[in-house]
Amino acid sequence: MDTPKSILQQAMALKTDLVKWRETLHRHPELGLDTPWTQRFVADRLTEMGYTPKKVGAAGYTALVGKPGGKVLLLRADMDALPLDEVSGEPFSSECPGRMHACGHDMHTAMLLGAAKLLKDNESLLEGQVKLMFQSGEEIGEGARDMVEHGVLEDPHVDAAEMIHVAAGAPFPSGLVLIPQGGTGASASCRFRMVVTGKGGHGAMPANCIDPITAICHIHCGIEEIFAREAELCDFLAISVGTIHAGDAHNIIPNTAEMSGTIRTMSLEKMAWAQKRLTEIAQGIGGAYRTQVEVIYEKLLPPLIADTETADCVGKYMQELLGPGAMRVPSSTKGGGSEDFAHVSVKVPSVPMFLAAGNSKEGYEHPAHHPAVRFDENALPIGAAAHTYMAIRWLQEHK
Ligand SMILES: [Zn+2]
Ligand SMILES: [Zn+2]
Repeated sequence: MDTPKSILQQAMALKTDLVKWRETLHRHPELGLDTPWTQRFVADRLTEMGYTPKKVGAAGYTALVGKPGGKVLLLRADMDALPLDEVSGEPFSSECPGRMHACGHDMHTAMLLGAAKLLKDNESLLEGQVKLMFQSGEEIGEGARDMVEHGVLEDPHVDAAEMIHVAAGAPFPSGLVLIPQGGTGASASCRFRMVVTGKGGHGAMPANCIDPITAICHIHCGIEEIFAREAELCDFLAISVGTIHAGDAHNIIPNTAEMSGTIRTMSLEKMAWAQKRLTEIAQGIGGAYRTQVEVIYEKLLPPLIADTETADCVGKYMQELLGPGAMRVPSSTKGGGSEDFAHVSVKVPSVPMFLAAGNSKEGYEHPAHHPAVRFDENALPIGAAAHTYMAIRWLQEHK
């Protein structure tokens, strides 16, 4: 049997279902980890296909297909939407005001459901097991961590993992699959909040007060200057202050001043270093101005890492399946974006891929997270086939 051709043909034959699932999901976007309707939709479809879906963590599902005892490949889709009012003009637009599938996670869920069907139909070709991972809370950076903490990578143990993210408004023909080289793609990120506490009082009597505004201004300068002198030139580090708030009246020195910002690095080691120095700088400078400084770090997201060996394998399989419809990304694109599949990628060899789903020449000019973004549904069967074929081939070559 010509497996690549057969899988592609089966995926094309599934297009009506893929489109129906995607548009149904698109009408019912849900946010964060609060995705009960979407979870039920996914679990019901999986059950209809003969799976036994299992709830993992607060808002995720897994399902298994294949032969137990061999290696296990995890395929992941995210299911959550964004807090936006949709203005795409699509006939199947969001029926929930203030919520929209603007990142294409409805496409991802439909594609993985399609792969679930194809994998079930071709189960005899699987020389190991495929674990399907449907997660919520990607946009808030919590869903994958929650599922990892609740054991999604164990029982059975996962040996490698893969995900596909659709891209709209990208300069590629729709349907092109992009496979990274090995290395770090999206950076690690972490939010920080800082509270500088002084002693408030009358603006006419500053000597009776300890002014937290003076202190926080110097801390801000210190962050900008000291990191500029200490960070290695070739090692990406971004620290940006996004908010500074203090005071309510022009003639009152406030008790506290607050700052928040974000740190982006390419490794968890560098992140730990940046956090340590940020706290030292803030407390050192704040101390000089007689204030107390507390720095809180939250929402730590690891870097998104593509495993070189797995990415090379997947590059080969996608070539077999799609020929010129698959392309290696020349070098791993470094940037400050984030993807919570990172929590998986730092635990098992992983490959995050992109699937072009409409560019501006084809009438899809808006990028993801835009309230008018549209995605090309012709990409759906390609995504489903890519998941399926990769699973068949990876398990064949990793017994
Ligand atoms: Zn997004
Ligand atoms: Zn996304």
